[in-house]
Amino acid sequence: MKKIEHIGIAVKNIENANAIYKSLLGYDYYKTEEVASEGVKTSFFTCGESKIELLEATKEDSPIAKFIEKRGEGIHHIAFAVDDIYSEINRLKKEGFIVLNETPKKGADNKLVVFLHPKSTSGVLVELCQEINNNEK
Ligand code: ZN
Repeated sequence: MKKIEHIGIAVKNIENANAIYKSLLGYDYYKTEEVASEGVKTSFFTCGESKIELLEATKEDSPIAKFIEKRGEGIHHIAFAVDDIYSEINRLKKEGFIVLNETPKKGADNKLVVFLHPKSTSGVLVELCQEINNNEK
C-alpha cells in the first residue's frame, strides 16, 4: 500500500456538503463526477497527498443510500493507493480478507477499485485503488 489515497464520506446532499468542505479546507473541490454504475455523485477535494471524496446516492438502492439509511452521514470508506491491484487482491485473500469484488471495477477519478468487507477489516470498508494509466507505463 502506498498511501491513503482518499477518505470517502457519505452525504445526503452533495451541494451542501461541498459548501461545508469548501469552508473547512479553504478551497473548492477540483472535480465532480457521477458514477452511474454505482449510483453515486462524487466530488473530490485535495488535501496534501490525499483526497476527500464526498458521495451522494443518485438512486434508492445505491450502497450510499443504504449506508446513510442505516448509519447516517459520515465516513464511508478509506481508500489505499496500490501499484498492482491484482497482486494485492491475491495477497489479501491469502491473508484472509474478504474481497467484495474480485474483478476490479472502474471507479471514480480514473481508478480501478476493489473493496474489502468491513467484517474482515475491523469495521471499516476498505477500498484499494490503482490509477488506470499506471497499466500502460
Ligand atoms: Zn472511494
